[in-house]
Amino acid sequence: MADPYDVVIIGGGVTGCATAYFLAAGNFDGTILIVERDPTYANAPSARATGGFRQQFSTPENIRIGLFGAQFVKNIDQYLSVGGDTPAVDFKERGYLILASPDSLALMQENLAVQRQIGANIVYQSNESLTARFSWLATDGLAGGFLGLENEGWLDPYALLQAYRRKAISLGVKIITDEVIRLQYRGNRVTNVELVSGGSLNPGIVLNAAGACDVSGIAAQVGVVLPVEPRKRCAFVFECRERIGVTPQMILPNGVAFRSEGDRYLAVVAPPPEHDLPTREFDIDYELFDELIWPTLAERVPAFEAIKLASAYSCHYDFNTLDENLILGPVPGLENFLVAAGFSGHGLMQSPAVGRALSELIQYAEYRTLDLSRFSYERVSTNTPLRETNCY
Ligand SMILES: Cc1cc2nc3c(=O)[nH]c(=O)nc-3n(C[C@H](O)[C@H](O)[C@H](O)COP(=O)(O)OP(=O)(O)OC[C@H]3O[C@@H](n4cnc5c(N)ncnc54)[C@H](O)[C@@H]3O)c2cc1C
Repeated sequence: MADPYDVVIIGGGVTGCATAYFLAAGNFDGTILIVERDPTYANAPSARATGGFRQQFSTPENIRIGLFGAQFVKNIDQYLSVGGDTPAVDFKERGYLILASPDSLALMQENLAVQRQIGANIVYQSNESLTARFSWLATDGLAGGFLGLENEGWLDPYALLQAYRRKAISLGVKIITDEVIRLQYRGNRVTNVELVSGGSLNPGIVLNAAGACDVSGIAAQVGVVLPVEPRKRCAFVFECRERIGVTPQMILPNGVAFRSEGDRYLAVVAPPPEHDLPTREFDIDYELFDELIWPTLAERVPAFEAIKLASAYSCHYDFNTLDENLILGPVPGLENFLVAAGFSGHGLMQSPAVGRALSELIQYAEYRTLDLSRFSYERVSTNTPLRETNCY
């Protein structure tokens, strides 16, 4: 006999837990179950992300999502406190500084106009202004940069994930350690969710929030093709004897990103496209550090000519090969199955707005706050990309 739940969420990462939280905190009085196979989250992107929050996007919805995300984490006590304890997510509001090359400047200026019109406090900085603010930065060959003056920065991803979980549980959400191995459907409904433990669930609504390595496989079980694949990202922690002080989240024109982290620095870059293939392995690509990251850093920050690698780790993006934007909501032909996939490196910062949006879809079958309907699966069916150009 399958256990009945009004909402079954596959995956207890930030997407699944944020959705459960918004549902339980709102008017929804049905039963909510999250199935999470690994409560340690040892390899989950939600725990391994570098934690960035920003509004410097090209898609208007992503800018609005970013603004709500910042408002959410800056007022996290109003959302996720439990019994008077406020989660310590340690939001460091130090801005993103995205440097422009002469080739990228025009597009970035266009994006800036949209960001400012929506209310994001981003400013253009000439090379001279950059030198005045960041004396450690070499500006030769740059065409200035774009700096977030508020609402951008980074936080502790694991703390945010745990805060969603704890709050959701306090509001009555049930989270079990188990693995969804099969979905069965009849007509236009998912009728059964089979678990590796041998149990099964009879779902009202199923949300597939299984993340980079699993979301597409689970969707395929009900005949849904998602253009989403796991792409490995390696993060490198390094030391530099000469202190340059606290930095914003820096994005250099070739995509190398770095920031200060206490006494150390954290750097990430996407591999060149020809090496950026779908994979589930976790090997560290040290050549990326030696051949791309370090030379780029040394060119932009002379102090970084002498650095020492301290540690490295890897995890996976759920990369949307269609347009690097999220895919959200119902899919054709199934009335009780929703997806949240393809965040392409932005799922943490998007989790407050996405969780709220999915809770609205589940309760009201429509968006009530931010209209995210342009992220629907329809653009996949019709092969109509909605490309996000500010992806790093
Ligand atoms: C190195 C790195 C840096 C990043 N930096 C940022 C950043 O700065 N800002 C940002 O916003 N985002 C960042 N991201 C992306 C962000 O981590 C993801 O977009 C986000 O965590 C996605 O959350 P999720 O809940 O959708 O998926 P996940 O975190 O992948 O969670 C899915 C969960 O589902 C569980 N699961 C899977 N299959 C099953 C199953 N069959 N049964 C039960 N459970 C299952 C998994 O165990 C997992 O816990 C980064 C990612 C990486 C790898």
